[in-house]
Amino acid sequence: MTTTTSSPNAAALTAALPELREAYAALQAKGLKLDLTRGKPSAEQLDLSDRMLALPGDRSRDRAGTDVRNYGGLDGLPELREMFAELLDVPVEQLLAGGNASLTMMYDTVVWAMLFGFPESPAPWSREEKVRWICAVPGYDRHFAVCEELGIEMITVPMTEHGPDAAAVAALVADDPTIKGMWVVPTYANPDGSVVSDDVARALVEMPAAAPDFRILWDNAYALHHLTGTETRTAPAVRLAAAAGNPDRVIMFASTSKITWAGAGVAFLASSPSNVAWYKKHLAKASIGPDKVNHLRHAMFFGSADGVREHMRRHRQILAPKFEAVTAILADRLGAYGVGEWTDPRGGYFVSLDVLPGTASRVVTLAKEAGIALTPAGATFPYGKDPEDKNIRLAPSMPPLDEVTAAMDGVATCVLLAAAEALAG
Ligand code: PLP
Repeated sequence: MTTTTSSPNAAALTAALPELREAYAALQAKGLKLDLTRGKPSAEQLDLSDRMLALPGDRSRDRAGTDVRNYGGLDGLPELREMFAELLDVPVEQLLAGGNASLTMMYDTVVWAMLFGFPESPAPWSREEKVRWICAVPGYDRHFAVCEELGIEMITVPMTEHGPDAAAVAALVADDPTIKGMWVVPTYANPDGSVVSDDVARALVEMPAAAPDFRILWDNAYALHHLTGTETRTAPAVRLAAAAGNPDRVIMFASTSKITWAGAGVAFLASSPSNVAWYKKHLAKASIGPDKVNHLRHAMFFGSADGVREHMRRHRQILAPKFEAVTAILADRLGAYGVGEWTDPRGGYFVSLDVLPGTASRVVTLAKEAGIALTPAGATFPYGKDPEDKNIRLAPSMPPLDEVTAAMDGVATCVLLAAAEALAG
C-alpha cells in the first residue's frame, strides 16, 4: 500500500527555501538524540513476554517426558513445532525449531550450499565459476550482506505491491544456470510492507529454472506481525511448491524474535522432507541439539497457536500508533509540497520512504547533523547502492511514541530542505 503524492511543487519549494533553512537551524538547536535506524522491538514490547523469565519454572520435561536440560532432539521441541506448524501452515514433520536467530539458519543454508551443494547440485556452489542471486529491491540489507560476504553476485528485480516482479524473475532464471536462488520476504516485506499474493507465489514455485538446485529462501520474519485488524495469511509456499512438482524449491524461515524477545527467541525452518534432511545432516555436525529449555519456556508461555495470535494483538496495540504517526506526519508535511512517496504498511516493522531522486543521502546527512539517526541511504539495495538515491527505510518500532513524532517531524524538514536545495540548483 503506497501513498503517492503529486509531482513536487518546485516553485513553492524553492520559494520556501529560506524558511526551510530556518526550520532546520531550529531543529539543530534542539540538540535531539533520536534513532529510527533498526527494526528492534521496544522495551514495552519486550515487557509483554516477561512472564517467560519465570518459565519453565521447575519443569524440566516436555510433554513426551524428554528431559529438556539434556543434549538431543535436533528437530526441536515437538509441542512448540506443532504450534508453529499451524501458524506457518506447514506439515509439522517438515518444521524444525532451532536457536534464537533465523538469520543464522539462512546463513548456514547458503554456506552449506556453497560448501557441499544440495543433493541435486552439479557441484558445491563454491566450485562454480559464478553464482548469482535475485534480490527484489528495496529489500533487507542483511540478506544482501550474506550474498556479498560469500561472493554471490546480486541481480535486482523490482518489488511490486504483490511481492517481487514474478515475470522479471521468471525471465532471468529460465536459461541462466548461474542463478541459484532468490530472497523473498512474503509478508509485510522489509522495508516496503508488500505481501506476496497467491498468484505471485504460484508463479515463483512453478516457473522453470535453468539451475536444477534453484532455491527460494522464503523469509517469513513478519508472518504474524499485523498492524491492523486484517490478519493477512501468507501464501503457503512450501505446499504450493510441492503441488507444483518443485517441492525442494522453497525453504521457509521464521522466528519469535519480534514475538517474544529479539535476543532470546526461537527460530524455525520449514521445507520439503529432502531439504529438511539435508539441513539436519549438516546441522548434526555442528550441534547435538537446540536450547530445548527455551523451546519449553515458549511453548508454556503461549499455550497454543491462538495464544501466539492473541499475543501479537498486544504488540499491535503498541506499534500501530507509531506507524500512524509516521504516515500522518509525512502526509501533513510532505503532501503540501508534493514531495515523496511512502508506504502505509498493514504489518511488519518498516515504512519505506522515497524522497526526491538524488537527495536520499543528503536527507540522511541532514538528519544526522540534527541528531536523528536514519538507516544509511542505499542500505535497502545490494552493495549499498541505490541507483536513484531516493529510498530511505524508517523504523519506528523502538523509540517511544513522542520520540517517533519528534524524529519524523525533523525528518520531514530534512526531506523538504534537501528537495528545495536540489530544485534551486
Ligand atoms: N528477516 C527479516 C526480513 C528481518 O527484517 C529480520 C530482522 O530485522 C530478520 C530476518 C532477523 O530475524 P532473526 O532475528 O530471526 O534472525
